[in-house]
Amino acid sequence: EPTFLLEGVEYNYEDGTPGLQGVSLGIERGKKVAFLGPNGAGKSTLFLHLNGILRPFRGRIFFQGKEVRYARKELARLRTKVGIVFQNPDRQVVIGHVWEDVSFGPMNLGLSPPEVEGRVEEALKVTGLWDLRDKAVHLLSYGQKKRVALAGILAMRPEVMILDEPTASLDPGQVHSLLELLECLHRQGIQIVLSTHDVDFAYAWADWVVIMHAGRVLAEGLPKEVFSDT
Ligand code: ADP
Ligand code: ADP
Repeated sequence: EPTFLLEGVEYNYEDGTPGLQGVSLGIERGKKVAFLGPNGAGKSTLFLHLNGILRPFRGRIFFQGKEVRYARKELARLRTKVGIVFQNPDRQVVIGHVWEDVSFGPMNLGLSPPEVEGRVEEALKVTGLWDLRDKAVHLLSYGQKKRVALAGILAMRPEVMILDEPTASLDPGQVHSLLELLECLHRQGIQIVLSTHDVDFAYAWADWVVIMHAGRVLAEGLPKEVFSDT
């Protein structure tokens, strides 16, 4: 059973801009999947459909074999299983200090304070933010803020993490740490789906690559096949 299955998904933004123009694809369980394509290709729009933030105008989306339903309760369940880390950390990082920020999500799950504390501690350690836990988020670097956003989602213990452009504005050393972090999450059984402009990164990391253009899937396949054609 694939993690996600999309059938003819179409979406237009309110101003009429076509976001997705008929996307059909499967994302196999456990696979590391990278989406590539120019800005405006529809990668973010697609990702926002994967945890029900956006609802298709046409077509259907299945998560773990069940069609996604948009009733409040079912959406809430979907979002505990599928976490999204947005491209711009300022969109996600709320306020205050690192610890406080990362605990926001798990607190909203209604967990007990010791459980929240345990999850936050683990998320901060895995993302290398432990030493920064008492810092004000607005004082952190862009890359550190991105890690705070990721830790916040991680602390919710999703089954799937969707990362929008995690490699954007990272230097090679930071890309290397990101790869290590993703491997660590993979070993924990968390499936990662991400978008990137970094072909070398996608080649090194992904099991499966999807190329998008103008709201459509242009090509998909194994990295070595897809990148040998382009
Ligand atoms: P094979 O017949 O060897 O499975 P494929 O090209 O179909 O050849 O798949 C090769 C690898 O890519 C396999 O590990 C497969 O699980 C993975 N794969 C195939 N399709 C997808 C997909 N839609 N999403 C993620 N991984 C996929
Ligand atoms: P990508 O993530 O691949 O850069 P997006 O999904 O952000 O692509 O964009 C797909 C299309 O939808 C683009 O034409 C983009 O300009 C448009 N778009 C994205 N967000 C909005 C929005 N909030 N309102 C109107 N158009 C949007």
